Amino acid sequence: MTAGKIDPNGPLKGKVALVTGASRGIGEAIAVRLAMAGARVVCTARTAEDGESRLPGTLTDTIRRITDAGGQATFIKADLSRAEDRERLVAEAVAIWGPIDILINNAAVTFFIPVESFPKRRFDLMMEVQVWAPLHLSQLVLPAMRAKKSGAIVSISSGAAIHPVKPYTTARAGGAIYGMCKAAIERFSTGLAAEVYADNISVNAISPGLVATPGVAVHGLITEATKHRVSPVEHIAEAVYQLVSRDPHEITGRIDHATAFLDEFGVTASSLA
Ligand code: NAP
Repeated sequence: MTAGKIDPNGPLKGKVALVTGASRGIGEAIAVRLAMAGARVVCTARTAEDGESRLPGTLTDTIRRITDAGGQATFIKADLSRAEDRERLVAEAVAIWGPIDILINNAAVTFFIPVESFPKRRFDLMMEVQVWAPLHLSQLVLPAMRAKKSGAIVSISSGAAIHPVKPYTTARAGGAIYGMCKAAIERFSTGLAAEVYADNISVNAISPGLVATPGVAVHGLITEATKHRVSPVEHIAEAVYQLVSRDPHEITGRIDHATAFLDEFGVTASSLA
């Protein structure tokens, strides 16, 4: 499958976007949508080629999908749980296309395990990839954004950030740590939005709803009971594109569902194929 219509002179022409977790799922869709709007997209994840992961999707597939349609994309392999990989990632991306204008913190590793038996090493890995990596990547890209007085950061959150309420019939067992990570990324986003507002940099977070991705399949999250809630991946990709395209002084420090952003902006999602 190739990307949808690429507009090389689109609203993101001249912008460099870094999308984490772009080997599959939501990150792949975001990379495609930003490239369709003319951005040069640096895709990152651990899986470059078939056979490197038990899950479908590779960075090679994602960038081929974009470049075959006439867009601009490249990939850099990185394990976001490693500080040295994060530093190398940003350094290499800047060497290829210049400073990052748009950072999308999408990658996540998730374990659904009840609190009582949650292993410390898995907690540390989730916090490193889902919370510290977005913060560290922001530290690495913000100096150039501040110098340009322009930039956009979007992090992918989840409805899991919202506190469960009684009668607790629908709360997924084992979701407390995932919810902690996503609550942290939301508070980080609103706090950072305030810190960088004066330099014309937007920081927002999006909750996708339930989207059919390889990660969701592994966790068996789509069931008879939840299938009516599944949203197309195009919605989240469009919401990200809309957020990074808007005036940072008007839209920043926001957290909402992808579909709520689309309704607010009065737009429908573009096809990604
Ligand atoms: P997915 O299918 O599991 O994809 C996760 C991505 O993260 C992959 O590209 C994976 O690439 C990358 N990743 C994982 N660990 C990494 C590491 N250590 N270093 C670098 N990259 C790593 O997930 P998804 O469903 O698309 O979800 C994307 C985001 O949306 C996540 O933040 C998730 O929490 C959030 N979300 C999803 C849903 C949903 O319904 N799908 C709902 C709410 C929130 P490699 O394995 O190749 O490294």
